[in-house]
Parts: sequence; structure tokens; C-alpha cells
Amino acid sequence: MAAPDDQNLPDRQTLSADRFENEAADLNGPFLGVGGRLSGGALVRNGGRLIDMRPRNRILSFDPGTGVIDCEAGVTLRAVVGRAVAQRFFLPVTAGSAAASIGGMTATDPAGRNRMQRGCFSEHVRSLRLMRSSGEVLTCSRRDNAELFAATLGGYGLTGLILSVELQLMKVPSAHVQRHTLRFSTPEDGLALARERAEIHEYAWAWLDRAGRGVVIAADHADAGSELPDMPKRRRLPLTVPLQPWFFQPRIVQVAGRIAWHATGGGDAAKTVAWWDFFWPLEAWPWTGGARLLAAFRRFAVDVPPAGSAGFLEACRAALRRAGRTPVLTEFRPGSDRDGFLFVFPEDGRATTALIGQLAAIARTYDGRRLPVDIDLAGEEAWPPPASLEDWRDPRFAADLWAAGEN
Ligand SMILES: Cc1cc2nc3c(=O)[nH]c(=O)nc-3n(C[C@H](O)[C@H](O)[C@H](O)COP(=O)(O)OP(=O)(O)OC[C@H]3O[C@@H](n4cnc5c(N)ncnc54)[C@H](O)[C@@H]3O)c2cc1C
Repeated sequence: MAAPDDQNLPDRQTLSADRFENEAADLNGPFLGVGGRLSGGALVRNGGRLIDMRPRNRILSFDPGTGVIDCEAGVTLRAVVGRAVAQRFFLPVTAGSAAASIGGMTATDPAGRNRMQRGCFSEHVRSLRLMRSSGEVLTCSRRDNAELFAATLGGYGLTGLILSVELQLMKVPSAHVQRHTLRFSTPEDGLALARERAEIHEYAWAWLDRAGRGVVIAADHADAGSELPDMPKRRRLPLTVPLQPWFFQPRIVQVAGRIAWHATGGGDAAKTVAWWDFFWPLEAWPWTGGARLLAAFRRFAVDVPPAGSAGFLEACRAALRRAGRTPVLTEFRPGSDRDGFLFVFPEDGRATTALIGQLAAIARTYDGRRLPVDIDLAGEEAWPPPASLEDWRDPRFAADLWAAGEN
């Protein structure tokens, strides 16, 4: 995987957004806008110039009445929540890392753990400003430049540089959540229970262990009487704890999973949980080494039509048994038109790439779509660019995954 081992880009490759804005027509490409580079792999590499959008991190406006927020592309999810939470607005779709940028979210169009209720991130984008390599800046929305807007949502940065995004936030009674945990004993029961819960709760997903047992987690935003503070107080540990990949070794994770499964009990256990523990548990603690941790794992994320979910999961579990591999995490997120699956493996080079190649081949037989995380070109299937990009791709923008364009 090519997740950054630190967050600095190599100098020779970096280009500031200021320089791109002023000199785009005179510079050599190919170009690619990047944010937190959490996607990893060939998606956030190119042989030319990466435009680092993290310094473009101002919130341009926020309307506390309507929850419409206008952000520069480098604003992080953490900053959006920090600004809006006191007015009881929250991200309608969030990724599992608070460091993801609004530009990166717009370009990758992730689904969160409320996929059934809220769909993907792009559905909540009202408009955006896009700079093309010609120097032209266009405002795009469902009304203005609508086709370019549609191609840019989930367009992997290939239509140009996203400068700013106007987003509709979600009104919540409280940012904190009322969480339910329910255990299951077979994968079939887990998929059915997670889907049933996703239809009635804001958030619902399931994790499964090697034996196919697991826990469904369902949640709704808690009512306004919650006495927890809006923003976390930094917890005071005397030392920061360096996160070590071995904390997450499959055997340790299996034991932790077994304990969690037994602790869940047979019923529906409900509890109010602070939002930062629910959405971004590692961010609230004084851990260090998160980037190194990311680099120690490979994620295989895919979505399939719901009718194929049970067969896809069973075929993947059989392939994993044959390969003698146990994922650190197997997660299922039900949706209305597509269900999401995430498998996380310890990175061990070619063996993991080969295994992910096998799972990707299984996904194709179930009409699966590979989601853009940790994609490595070595040993993996070719990735056709989305058809919607054909007419709107900026010819001077490219990522290694689609190494076309100017060199
Ligand atoms: C811990 C973790 C949890 C995650 N959880 C989820 C999840 O729950 N659901 C899910 O679907 N995904 C998830 N992801 C993936 C995540 O959504 C994406 O990695 C994230 O959106 C990327 O944001 P980023 O700022 O790091 O973008 P980058 O990784 O820097 O870039 C991602 C893509 O966006 C483009 N891009 C970035 N900024 C711009 C810009 N300003 N203009 C044009 N193009 C741009 C890049 O070219 C690239 O194609 C997770 C990732 C991590 C590391």
C-alpha cells in the first residue's frame, strides 16, 4: 500500500494551489489535487505534480439556520464538525477518519455507516468551484454546469482542481448517539439483522469474525437532553501512546472480538455514546503513529447489489479459508441499491496483493464495484475510469491509476 508514512509530500512533486492558480497554463503536468491522501495507492500518486490542498482550509461561510456550509477543499471533516456541532448540525455522511478533506470526500464520494438512510457524500453537495488546467474557474451545481458537476462528484480529481465545496449538513437533536448492539451467530443472520436495523435506524452495520459470528451496531442521534459536552475535552493521559500495528494482529483481534461478542449478551443493549467515540474513536485519544498504522494495513472495499451480498460474502470467506488468511476486520454496511463490504488485512506485500486480486475477481462475478482505497497497480485488475468522465476529464490531470494525460 502507498499510504503516506508521514503527511509530507516529496518537494519535487508538490505544487501549491497558489502556484497552480497563477501559473497553470505555463506549468508541466500531469496534475492531481490531493487532500489527506488517506485513499492511498495509485489513486493519489502521479508522475507529475500533486497539488496539496491541505493549506486551503478556511470555512468560507456557515449558515446556522439552514446548515449550509461553504468550505475550501482542504477543510477536514474534523473542522466541519467543530464549526457546526454547537448549532446541532452534523455531517450527513462521514468517513472513518476525521482527517479526510472535503475535496477528497467530494472526489471519492464515500458512503458512511448510514448508507441506507443518506446514500453517498455527493448527494449532499450543493455546488462546488472547480479550476481547470486552462485557468478557467467554474461554479458547478445541479443547475449550472450540471454535467461537469456530476462528473466531478466521485470523479477522482480528474476533472480539475476542486477549490471549494458547498455542503448541506444534517440537523440532529444532538451529535451524540444512542447505540444498540445485537449479536448474531451466522453470517446469514448477521446480514439480515443489519439490513432490518438499517431500515429503522440512522446508522447500522455489522462486523463478523472468522467463524461468521458477529455484532450488529445500530444507532440514532441522541435526543437534545444529552448532557455530554459538544466537543471532546482532550483526555489527560500522562503520555501519548504510540499505536503499534501488532495491537491489531488477527489473533489479538479475534480474542477481542470473542470477548466483545460474549459481552454483548443475547438482547438489544442500548447506550448513549459521545459522537467522537462513535465516529472517530482513535482521534479523541492522545495516540500517535496513526499514519504508520495505516501503512501497515491494506483495505479491500467493495459494494455489490443487495441480492448478491450473501453469495459474495460466502465466496470471500471460502477464499480466505483456502488461503489461510484472517482479516483484521470484516465489515458489512447495508444500503438500498448497493451493500458495502470492507476487509482489512495486515500488509505483507505480494501475498496480500494476490489475495486482494482474488477477492476482486470474486467481486466482479457479483457485479461488485471496487471502492477507491489502497488500490495498488501491482497484480490487481485494470481499473477503467468511470464512463461519466469521458467527456469531462481535464486532459492535463492524471493519477497513476489512469496514467493517461500529459507526461
Ligand atoms: C481510517 C479511514 C476510514 C475511512 N472510512 C471510509 C468510509 O467509512 N467510507 C468510505 O467510503 N471511505 C472511507 N475511507 C476512504 C475515505 O473516504 C477517503 O480516503 C477520503 O475521502 C479521502 O480524503 P482525503 O482528503 O484523504 O483525499 P485524498 O486521499 O488525498 O484524495 C482522494 C481522491 O480525491 C482527489 N482529491 C482530493 N482533493 C481534491 C481536490 N481539492 N480537487 C480535486 N481532487 C481532489 C484525489 O485526487 C484522489 O483521487 C476511509 C479512509 C480511512 C483512512
